[in-house]
Amino acid sequence: MLIKDVSLLQSGHLLKGRDILIQGNRIVKIGRDLKDEDKYDTIQGHGKLAIPGLVNAHTHLAMTLFRGYADDMALMPWLQEKIWPLEAKLTAEDIHWGVKLGCLEMIRFGITCYNDMYYFMDETAKATKQMGLRAFLSGVVFDSRPEFKAEAESFIKRWKGDELICPAVGPHAIYTCSEETLAWARDTSEKNGIKIHIHLSETRGEFDDSVKKRGKSPVQYLDSLGLLSSRLLAAHCVWLTENDIRLLANRRVNVIHCPVSNLKLAAGIAPVDRLMAAGVNVCLGTDGASSNNNLDLFEEMKMAAILQKNACSRPEAMTAKDIWTIATENGYQATGLALGLAEGALADLSLIDLRKPWLTPFSNILSLLAYSMVDGVDTTIVNGKVLMKDGKIPGEPEILVRAQERFERLTS
Ligand SMILES: [Zn+2]
Repeated sequence: MLIKDVSLLQSGHLLKGRDILIQGNRIVKIGRDLKDEDKYDTIQGHGKLAIPGLVNAHTHLAMTLFRGYADDMALMPWLQEKIWPLEAKLTAEDIHWGVKLGCLEMIRFGITCYNDMYYFMDETAKATKQMGLRAFLSGVVFDSRPEFKAEAESFIKRWKGDELICPAVGPHAIYTCSEETLAWARDTSEKNGIKIHIHLSETRGEFDDSVKKRGKSPVQYLDSLGLLSSRLLAAHCVWLTENDIRLLANRRVNVIHCPVSNLKLAAGIAPVDRLMAAGVNVCLGTDGASSNNNLDLFEEMKMAAILQKNACSRPEAMTAKDIWTIATENGYQATGLALGLAEGALADLSLIDLRKPWLTPFSNILSLLAYSMVDGVDTTIVNGKVLMKDGKIPGEPEILVRAQERFERLTS
């Protein structure tokens, strides 16, 4: 496949009139006037900007079915009164259409890889593969459902080595998992060389309870159990001490910032400026669409940046360049995959149609991406395969109808 005459951003510089040659699942060459010897498909890139695929580093994709179902509540009552009762009714069929709905949305927002923790992971993996996205998937584990551990282990065995699906281990949080369960997660991650995905220090209540119960913050507690490492993807990390920040940096933990979800649930504002200053790898996630309420990582970028500026009373506390790095390179580092818009990288990328009022005048590209993007991704490619071209995604009308039906069944 050859993308002709496109603009692209490389190491902060805008390059115009370049061709991108994709063979198999890799970008093999970026240059001028490239010829496609194999005469594969050509995509005209004139008037468009190629960007590397974005990583949504924390979500629960099937929860797109719960969009708008329960708003304006704090985390614990939201979970206990609304979300958990609805989740008890979920079937594999619901997950299938919920995941496909989430994939549609992410493809439209230029997300090519996502990190998920939820139920029915085989269904999630199959639906994700059918949609063509790349994903890190963990079957959620907590103490009230002891059988989930064995299910998670067999899921890992089945999917390890897949081209698009990277299985991971997903202990839900320290307030739903015992020490024994957390140790099991650590050992399973070590044994299989896979990631751990957890919610960590999301609310003031979680932090205070941990200190009261154990004399340790949630981060110190996980450290005492040996869970802090570069394999850990810790979502939220809103409530942190200076010592916690040092621990996260020293242990090379990946922190996933989810500002819209944190603000919507009034959980607080993560100290991202201090995490960045300490050298922590901070990534970006939308969380589930039921606490966001969309999967738009461009909106998340803008929110993260303007939020941090105000939390610190310093407009330079998070710049356009900072947030673009967080949504791309830091996400790639967390996955450990060869992602990015470069020769030799996996062919995961999107094209943005620049002929939009909100992207005109076309000058400071990082500023446009961080602060002005509301729409415009018209082509998304993952693993060398075109998932959306000129705004069209095969099967979209059916997915929308089926997702609506599943929502009505669940809430009836
Ligand atoms: Zn979450």
